[in-house]
Amino acid sequence: MSDCIFCRIVAGELPCRKVYEDEDVYAFHDIRPAAPVHFMIIPKRHIASLAEAGPADAAVLGKILALAGRLAREQGLEEGFRTIINTGRIGCQEVYHLHVHILGGPEPLGGML
Ligand code: 5GP
Repeated sequence: MSDCIFCRIVAGELPCRKVYEDEDVYAFHDIRPAAPVHFMIIPKRHIASLAEAGPADAAVLGKILALAGRLAREQGLEEGFRTIINTGRIGCQEVYHLHVHILGGPEPLGGML
């Protein structure tokens, strides 16, 4: 059994609120939402972080970005969303399985950028 919680979610060993799944990609709502809608899109294959990603990961990373708009619209985010990838200690990454956060809601989300 993997000790990566996101690998365990992909394997069905831990519950989640699933948004989307295909052969390469999985998406599910964040357990501690930081916005009215907050889900994550991840590669099924374990990649620890964006810092570890390389050329072999380009296709799945492109697929994740290309899916973001469609999945956001399906979750009601018609007017836009924020996209965050936290990387490493300085990036405050908590779970070391690469994930793209999608956040949105009825009002603009403030922030440092
Ligand atoms: P990070 O800080 O690594 O970019 O974000 C990890 C995110 O995963 C956090 O927002 C956290 O709430 C979420 N998370 C941690 N454990 C679980 C879990 O077991 N299930 C779900 N759905 N989300 C989780």
